[in-house]
Amino acid sequence: MAIVQVAVAAPLPEVFDYLPPPDVSDYDIGQRVVVPFGRSRRVGIIVGCRSESAIAPDRLKPIERCLDQAPLLSAADLALIRWAADYYRCPPGEALFSALPSRLRRPVPSSEQALKGWRPTAASDNGRLQQLSRAPRQAATLAALLTRPLGLDDAALRGQLGDCRAALKALEAKGLIERCPVSKPTDGPARPDPAADSMLIPRLNDEQQRAVETLNQASGFNCFLLDGVTGSGKTEVYIRLINSTLERGQQILVLVPEIGLTPQLAERFSHRISAESVVLHSGLAEREREIAWRRAACGQARLVLGTRSAIFTPLPELGLVIVDEEHDVSLKQQDGFRYSARDLAVRRGQMSQCPVLLGSATPSLETLRNAERGRYQHLQLHRRAGGAQAPRFLLADIRAQPLITGLSHALLTRMAEVIEAGNQVLLFLNRRGFAPVLTCHDCGWISVCQHCDARMTLHRGHGQLICHHCGDQRPLPVQCPYCESPDLRPLGQGTERVEDSLRQRFPGIPLARIDRDNTRRKGELERLLAAARDGAYPILLGTQMLAKGHHLPGVTLVGILDLDHGLYGSDFRATERMAQLLIQVAGRAGRAERPGTVLVQTRHPDHPLLIRLLRQGYSSFAAAALNERAEARLPPFSFQALLRADSRTEQLGFDFLRDARALALALEPGPVELWGPAPASMERRAGRFRAQLLLQCSQRGPLHALIDRLLPALRAHEGHRRLRWSIDIDPQESL
Ligand code: ADP
Ligand code: ZN
Ligand code: ZN
Repeated sequence: MAIVQVAVAAPLPEVFDYLPPPDVSDYDIGQRVVVPFGRSRRVGIIVGCRSESAIAPDRLKPIERCLDQAPLLSAADLALIRWAADYYRCPPGEALFSALPSRLRRPVPSSEQALKGWRPTAASDNGRLQQLSRAPRQAATLAALLTRPLGLDDAALRGQLGDCRAALKALEAKGLIERCPVSKPTDGPARPDPAADSMLIPRLNDEQQRAVETLNQASGFNCFLLDGVTGSGKTEVYIRLINSTLERGQQILVLVPEIGLTPQLAERFSHRISAESVVLHSGLAEREREIAWRRAACGQARLVLGTRSAIFTPLPELGLVIVDEEHDVSLKQQDGFRYSARDLAVRRGQMSQCPVLLGSATPSLETLRNAERGRYQHLQLHRRAGGAQAPRFLLADIRAQPLITGLSHALLTRMAEVIEAGNQVLLFLNRRGFAPVLTCHDCGWISVCQHCDARMTLHRGHGQLICHHCGDQRPLPVQCPYCESPDLRPLGQGTERVEDSLRQRFPGIPLARIDRDNTRRKGELERLLAAARDGAYPILLGTQMLAKGHHLPGVTLVGILDLDHGLYGSDFRATERMAQLLIQVAGRAGRAERPGTVLVQTRHPDHPLLIRLLRQGYSSFAAAALNERAEARLPPFSFQALLRADSRTEQLGFDFLRDARALALALEPGPVELWGPAPASMERRAGRFRAQLLLQCSQRGPLHALIDRLLPALRAHEGHRRLRWSIDIDPQESL
């Protein structure tokens, strides 16, 4: 008897046995189905077939119906997702369904994009092609199909060969080709005209050349770190490698950390890459996304450019994986299926036996350590491409200095010079809103959030106090809610307030503020950035939205208003993040021939890591930071997992985590250390209390073995229903 194993879209750790659907014989692994589940029904994916079940035959129910005609996921795709589900301890059904485009998570049939096409059969090869020398049309048709083993649709064949129906019929009769489903072509990007663009193709410098050659010579799986200062021509290296991979007939996956980075990269690729490319991110309409995904899955799209979740896109002929800005935390999913797209990229390369390239100007300490140990090959680009100069750093000690809305005299003076000379200034302040807190001058009341251990930010534009952690909003009070004094004052500054102040100080000078509040409308960010690139705004002011990857060639001065919270943050990764952000923001300056200056305002001008970073650069900083981590036995010199709980009362979460700790100790944790339970750094958020228990070990093996034994005990724990808990493997952020 056949038993079908189905992973159901539900947070349950096991897969379930069913009988085959009654009226179809054509079911297969990787297909979506609807199954009866308890008193309701659920969507699931067939993940296996076997001959026996532990469940009595009369209690097994049949699959109700199949949703897809052909499997959505191949065995290789399933293997990757199931590996990830195992590693990150995510229920298999939840992992599988979060890996699918959102439309396909619902019990709807997949869009009928499956046009009829043709593909070569197993019997056809170059030998058979040669035998067709006396039938040139058949030969041409078969030759075209042999290059596309996954099939070409009728329209594409007609486009290439004209009317070839007779030849197709003859080839089919000979058993050399067969009908197959092919996704409908969408309007792919316009083909570039290489002749028109050839002038724009730069000659690679020696370091770029070496990187390209090294990867082109790599065979099978290998992981490379492309460690190149901002503007050193990493993207140029990607483009060369993409083209040589395309020439080998393979597909390419490029991951970026944020949606905002896709348009400019897609635009650059479109001028230089003539294969069909698709973009995949959460900003697309559901159906658009499904179609793009299917184009990749059927081999029609050769290049996929996407954010985190694109790591799971089926790519039957994958030949290269690139992760740009590999250090970026956004590559890690922070809820539900908590995977690291960067780490999975490496695993995927291993499973597909293809090279993986991790690129960054500020590589993560994890990746640097892997390079140091020889697991990854370290490729460096030391100089900016095309003769652009590296920016110069200046520290402005703002202790006891008069500041005008957070701007020092030194910064304001330089700004005036730069604007006078017709260049651009970029000011970086990672805090949106008008002021981070409103206070009563008479009694000292401050605007705290009722639901979080946090202050409510004053947004003057909206006339509201807004909590950035739970989203709660309140109208701006006209008097103190405590003593009724009308003397309420904003404390500190956010981008809105700095904008006000700059408009007064530099009247008539166009200024663009770029933060989340200002760029909510679709296309607004792109519009502002394009205008900024064209020099329309002498002053740019923004949060980290402005820090990442965007080329702003006219900027010659970068001012960093406040970096200090990064120097003494509670998370052990705070200094690493601070350094990455600082170097990334600085990288916006002086990209063209104009040299740039970066002025960093700080109250800690003697901080040793900061000084090292600014005087000797990121590599030197990273080496020192890695030493500190080694001494403290923190990642990458140890492995962590974080057990988190959040609950309606402080007591519930702590009790659960204390029990978890006791359970772990009873399981003989061996070398695994247990830290906590401890409250999260913001203990109360959105009305819930949050606490965590940290598990750490110098080796991954014992840590993961303990987790495997601990999780079933926690699932059976009676307290677990009264709170939310989760396990985060290789956490990137403590709470
Ligand atoms: P990164 O991705 O490292 O920030 P890019 O690839 O975007 O760097 O290159 C920065 C700028 O330098 C781009 O305008 C690019 O066209 C140019 N460039 C890249 N490589 C070269 C080269 N070998 N010669 C001249 N210009 C180059
Ligand atoms: Zn008051
Ligand atoms: Zn709140």
